[in-house]
Amino acid sequence: MKSLDDLVFDNRFARLGDTFSTAVLPEPIAEPRLVVASASAMALLDLDPAESERPEFAEIFAGHMLWSDAEPRAMVYSGHQFGSYNPRLGDGRGLLLGEVVNAAGEHWDLHLKGAGQTPYSRSGDGRAVLRSSIREFLASEHLHALGIPSSRALCVTGSSTPVYRETEERAAMLLRMAPSHVRFGSFEYLYYTRQHDALGQLADHVLREHYPHCLESPEPHAALFREVLERNAELIARWQAYGFCHGVMNTDNMSILGITFDFGPYAFLDDFDAHFICNHSDDSGRYSFSNQVPIAHWNLSALAQALTPFVSVKILRETLTLFLPLYQAHYLDLMRRRLGLQQADEADGELVERLLQLMQGSAVDYSLFFRRLGEDAPGMALARLRDDFVDLAGFDAWAQRYRARVENEGGDQAARRQRMHAVNPKYVLRNYLAQRAIEAAEAGDYREVRELHAVLARPFDEQPGKEGFAERPPEWGKHLEISCSS
Ligand code: AMP
Ligand code: MG
Repeated sequence: MKSLDDLVFDNRFARLGDTFSTAVLPEPIAEPRLVVASASAMALLDLDPAESERPEFAEIFAGHMLWSDAEPRAMVYSGHQFGSYNPRLGDGRGLLLGEVVNAAGEHWDLHLKGAGQTPYSRSGDGRAVLRSSIREFLASEHLHALGIPSSRALCVTGSSTPVYRETEERAAMLLRMAPSHVRFGSFEYLYYTRQHDALGQLADHVLREHYPHCLESPEPHAALFREVLERNAELIARWQAYGFCHGVMNTDNMSILGITFDFGPYAFLDDFDAHFICNHSDDSGRYSFSNQVPIAHWNLSALAQALTPFVSVKILRETLTLFLPLYQAHYLDLMRRRLGLQQADEADGELVERLLQLMQGSAVDYSLFFRRLGEDAPGMALARLRDDFVDLAGFDAWAQRYRARVENEGGDQAARRQRMHAVNPKYVLRNYLAQRAIEAAEAGDYREVRELHAVLARPFDEQPGKEGFAERPPEWGKHLEISCSS
């Protein structure tokens, strides 16, 4: 176990030089205080969890102190935002502090979000508010616990520094971790500014540090694109299977590693709704829940365009056609497991589709349905769940088909329950839970954020006394409008 002073840095991205990022120092926020820290994220750096109690911990992650080996840089990128190309984005309020190497030899980017203005801030103040920092923290750590690849979050620090959004709020900082912060937009920036040598350097960096096995392929860049596409197909399948809506799938928010990245007005579905739009500013529903699949494909085409100096259009096009079948295979596999089925069947796609239609028609709670389906033997579980459906004839017909599948597979209920509970979370980060914890934190009480984080870090476990966190949202919490401002 290490202390904060023992961290070892190896800043590979910084060494690429000024074409890729700009040196900037963090601007501290006043009267820093630790809001919440993740012991499991700290473990990735081999940090002793007790380190979070030292006053230096909050001071470092509020920009007051820095390791001498850190080299803070604002990364440059561009990207397609809501389908339109924005030529210059970049880290406007976050800094890559450096890369920490852990005992296992892994590199972890430390990225401090809300660290003040940079050359990429445009008209922004370089700050992040407490509310959005808590939301990103909770989601990163919860997605990870659900088995959904995501950037991680080490901690949130609050402050007394005022920031102005719709109203006056307080500035906070989030320490985000990922093996890389390179985005699709990092490639697009160098491609559209015709810096193709630098584009090659970026691709080489990503290949060398993150996809070394692709270097063995006769066409490493083609292999890289294919693997990025495969990882995204699997990622989006997980989002869809678990009801996660990202909200801002701009290409600058798409990680080259295929992990969930850059959280804004995201949401987990409460009632199942394929057309759900979680981002209040997304008027056309471009990033609605069901559109996440075609949008991921669209974003991959944008990345493909930026790789045309290295890979033939023919190969890029052929690779793009693999996305949908790969996505569908992963998705069905996950949904089959959520339903407790072990054998694939030709009619599985239809079985899932029909269930979702019925859930949509009756506004059935998406997460609780699956958890409850595994709770009792199928006959009993289905009889209990039936009450939630309006179209009883439709539900009965579906239930009959489902029961026949389960009975055909055989096996005992105890094993089925265990299998299903291991993939169907009891605790899900619902917007109303985050909202309640944020309101307490804004009033200076961090207990609920910490408790919620702890509960959501073990989403599949029964946690006696925590059942309140597993409930459907109250009326006020059903359709919270999450503002895009952060
Ligand atoms: P996001 O919506 O957080 O993905 O940010 C989109 C772009 O706007 C990125 O280039 C951010 O760095 C920049 N940005 C967002 N909020 C701010 C802010 N408060 N100050 C400066 N830049 C910002
Ligand atoms: Mg972003």
